[in-house]
Amino acid sequence: MKNKGFTTRLVHADRRLNKPQDGAVHFPTSNSVLFEYEDVNDLVEVFQGKKLGHVYSRSSSSSNAALQNILADIEGGIAAVTFATGMAAISSMLLALLKHNDHIIVSQFLFGNTSSLMATLSDLGIRVSYVDTTDISAVEREVNNDTKLVFTETIANPVTQVADLAALGELCEANKLLFIIDNTMTPGFIFDAKAVKASLTVSSLTKYIAGHGSVLGGAVVDTGLFDWSEYANIFELYRVGDPVNWGMTQIRKKGLRDLGATLSPDSAHQISLGLETMALRIEKTCNNALRLATYLQGHSKVENVYYPGLADHPQHYIARELFAGNYGGVFSMDLAPGLDVHKFLNLLETVIIATHLGDTRTLCLPVASTIFYENGPQQREKMGINDNMIRFSVGIEDIDDIVADFEQAFAKI
Ligand SMILES: *Cc1c(COP(=O)(O)O)cnc(C)c1O
Repeated sequence: MKNKGFTTRLVHADRRLNKPQDGAVHFPTSNSVLFEYEDVNDLVEVFQGKKLGHVYSRSSSSSNAALQNILADIEGGIAAVTFATGMAAISSMLLALLKHNDHIIVSQFLFGNTSSLMATLSDLGIRVSYVDTTDISAVEREVNNDTKLVFTETIANPVTQVADLAALGELCEANKLLFIIDNTMTPGFIFDAKAVKASLTVSSLTKYIAGHGSVLGGAVVDTGLFDWSEYANIFELYRVGDPVNWGMTQIRKKGLRDLGATLSPDSAHQISLGLETMALRIEKTCNNALRLATYLQGHSKVENVYYPGLADHPQHYIARELFAGNYGGVFSMDLAPGLDVHKFLNLLETVIIATHLGDTRTLCLPVASTIFYENGPQQREKMGINDNMIRFSVGIEDIDDIVADFEQAFAKI
């Protein structure tokens, strides 16, 4: 399957390693928590990691394994671990890999909940530096002997800064640091994290991968590029066999098994179904977003549009190279001064007011009064978030209908 196209691999990958029974094309959703062994020696070998198998569904199940195979395949990775939500994937991965007094470098433009998690890690004794990951020299200045990893998103939300991912990959490789990319905004089809030397990717499956706003999930994928024998925090117990597998073993044991934020088999199946049409949805979404952002940029009632697909975006040229002409489905705009953001949003008829992204429907949200309300005016100003900012997540609708919806709303305000 390696040299086949993206969607070809995607719709066939889960049957590659294991064949479902009776020629079924989908894996049956198995809700069994326990797994019976005829011979106790087989159970022992599975427990000791000498043989593949499931022993308890908190750690693994066939429905999760089927989804993990596809996720690893589409990112060109060696393995994937799935979790109950995107936040569960991020928190479990970091808690599995970090120790008291470690230093980590993270983007200052992180998703709000991830940023809040970083504050929790700080309280637990992990030193966190927040930096502008579009500026490689700013990142380089923070590296010290205790630095374990660099963590960034690809396209930030809501101001759409694009991290200098290729330069970050080089920097991490040169300093033997783990390079972790939150790839929620630009999943496999758009962006090849392995090409910029990512060690791990972490994603919210809730967004573009499942795609329909009907199920939560998260995943970590190991690209196979990082040499885990260089990573001091791998427990002695897991330093066995090929070092390429050590990181995922620790994330599976310390992250998934001990912290227990397991993805339910029903959810894993729903996510697998959504994933089959991801490339179709993302292409439509990116085309729609570019069209809508271009229309809004020229509108007299709009002050600014923030979208990496626009030529005047500060990282447009980086984005063009990294994402093969797709710029994601999220953008923001500042309404012209004096216009009432809340009144404008209430005038939209097809676009939905909701806090989510990566849906089939176009969604909108006033930024300062909702997702960045807790940050307060000073921090918002530092992050470039204006009071008249609106965030959009563009869906797969017929785009003329969405443009018409904006036109009727603009006419009334
Ligand atoms: C939504 C999101 C998450 C968290 O995912 P959940 O599935 O909602 O827990 C993490 N990172 C980014 C970039 C997100 O947009």
